Amino acid sequence: MATAVRLSNQRAARLRAQFDELAETFTAGADPVDFVHRYQDADDQEVAALFASALAFGRVASFTPVLDRIFDLSDQVGGPAAWVDRCTHTADPGLDPVFYRWVRGDDLARFAATIGRFRARHGSVRAWLDKKVHPQQPELVQLLGLLIDEFRELSAPEPDETFATLSRGYKHLLPHPSSGSACKRWCMLARWMSRTDSPDVGLWPIQPESLIIPLDTHIHRIARMVGLTRRNDGSWRTATEVTANLRRIDPDDPVRFDFVLAHLGIDGRCKGRRIAAICSECSLAPVCNTGRSG
Ligand code: SF4
Repeated sequence: MATAVRLSNQRAARLRAQFDELAETFTAGADPVDFVHRYQDADDQEVAALFASALAFGRVASFTPVLDRIFDLSDQVGGPAAWVDRCTHTADPGLDPVFYRWVRGDDLARFAATIGRFRARHGSVRAWLDKKVHPQQPELVQLLGLLIDEFRELSAPEPDETFATLSRGYKHLLPHPSSGSACKRWCMLARWMSRTDSPDVGLWPIQPESLIIPLDTHIHRIARMVGLTRRNDGSWRTATEVTANLRRIDPDDPVRFDFVLAHLGIDGRCKGRRIAAICSECSLAPVCNTGRSG
């Protein structure tokens, strides 16, 4: 088993300088958080974020057209919040032909209805969190676990249903941290909704210092290349090790560089191997074990 990495103060300062340099020169390509900014109303932003993060797996160019179709449907009835409220009692037939990989139209309809039922019971995720984080905020793993439990329960309202009996496509939308999953999409949702710096919207009362890095393949690869972890598995444990080291770089806001680091991979600027013409221009080259090894 790989030994856990613990950054020295000197190494943390070095990484912070290079991450800052990367952030200063950074312009991002398309990102699922763009769908949150399609709306101004806080309830619409929250529902848009729940949907956009849930389908944010695979290539951005592949799921973006699917999200466009979903939000076009919602906009026909007043926006995402009004749409999911309506979907609790009347499924939108416009979803029938929509699918993304193994998530089918009826999975999307169930997810819309579940969010609507959550809103009917609690008002919003923001309101639910307000009750959970006071007087003392639990760790994110506990908070996400409770939130997913609530969503799972609301997903199966019929007496003969349980979450376990639902389709693979639907269950993929609601991973649970207790399974060991890194829950990348839900950690990303927590980042979008809790941090206040662009592109995040800062609507949820989760302290940025308690966020966990959304560990996708890009972040995992870069984390290994710059020495934030040696672990090979994309698990919750790896996400917490990477986050612990990011916390040594910025204790108050450990996931602040997530967006720029992820986009190095998402936008194809880092190929995960040394390419002299690319690496010589990369701000991370002085701290990247791969980029300087040729
Ligand atoms: S130096 Fe090269 S391999 Fe390392 S992060 Fe930059 S582009 Fe990727």
